[in-house]
Amino acid sequence: MRCPHCGREAPAGEFCAHCGAHLPVGDRLLDARRTRTYAADPREHLLHLSVITTLFPHLNPHRTFQARWLLLAGAVLVFLVGLGRFVPLSIVLAALLVPVLYLLYFFLAGIHEDEPLPVLAATFLAGAVFGTLLSVAFYRVILGQRRLIFGPAPSYVLLTGILLPLLAQALMLIGPLVLYFTRRRFNDLLDGLAFGAASGLGFAAAQSVVYSWLLIAGPFQRGGSATSWALPTIRIALLVPLLDAATTGLICAALWLRRDHHAPRRRLGWLAFPPVAALVGTLGQVVPSLGFDLVGGQITALVWYGVTAGVMLLLVRVVLHAGLLEKAQELGHGGVLTCPGCHHSVPDVAFCPGCGLALRSIAKHARHPSGQEERHA
Ligand SMILES: [Zn+2]
Ligand SMILES: [Zn+2]
Repeated sequence: MRCPHCGREAPAGEFCAHCGAHLPVGDRLLDARRTRTYAADPREHLLHLSVITTLFPHLNPHRTFQARWLLLAGAVLVFLVGLGRFVPLSIVLAALLVPVLYLLYFFLAGIHEDEPLPVLAATFLAGAVFGTLLSVAFYRVILGQRRLIFGPAPSYVLLTGILLPLLAQALMLIGPLVLYFTRRRFNDLLDGLAFGAASGLGFAAAQSVVYSWLLIAGPFQRGGSATSWALPTIRIALLVPLLDAATTGLICAALWLRRDHHAPRRRLGWLAFPPVAALVGTLGQVVPSLGFDLVGGQITALVWYGVTAGVMLLLVRVVLHAGLLEKAQELGHGGVLTCPGCHHSVPDVAFCPGCGLALRSIAKHARHPSGQEERHA
């Protein structure tokens, strides 16, 4: 049938194989932007708050399920260990949880293709090095006297609430930017998201290790009840890495989207414009720090970081969805592959006609035609 949105001849199915839009049901014309079916995982709404399908868009449903449980189990473990006052152990687990999951994803999804070490090292380690440098340079200010009697000093708020988050965001972008200018063949917005997220996670991991070490062993040692440790640990383990990965991933996805030489079918949206994405990502760094400075307290901090990280993850989804739909391209394998979302056989088209999955979001090793895979087996 002919797709009313792009005018091309589409194989029968629920979705247009070329532009990904819903094909009309009877005489009902559905929205071409299909906000109810997220391009990287059509089982979810575009604005479904999900860490795994946002930051790990290459995973198939089975792996998504596993990764979700791993993340949840890791977070519970970190919380329990923190509650049991095994603070050093809990901090180390906290710092490693999301990065380890992410590195696992890097290998599973084959993002690096034939260039594993340079790409991994440049992004993740650059983030970690800058995270370490920044925290070592400013730890006295950050961990020192937080408040004067009448609230925080303005100079302190200016430094820790605004300047340091700005600096942190800039540093997290250096690794991905080096890749942007030196590895031109990574031209996909999902590559950009992966590099941005890896750098943000490296940065967050290094920072949490340095701060925690100073709090445990250094001059800023502190006592307090078990919950006073468990709550900051959850913030360090989950929320800060997710926030850093989301803001840096958002900026990089928008940047890499410009590198994709295919012209978009429609408008990509204001958020996909790199200066806007950079502004929004930077705000995502400033808002929780500033909020924490002005309205302190561990529970309030969880709310500040939790809400901001959630909003940033949703914005990442909006950019990914728009990019995958508007810059849709065939994979170019010339054969038939099995859709990892619904297991239908799909010809060389941009979207699975059965479930609407953007086939560019599947793992790189799954992009070969099924026949070829069988021959190798
Ligand atoms: Zn179409
Ligand atoms: Zn499918």
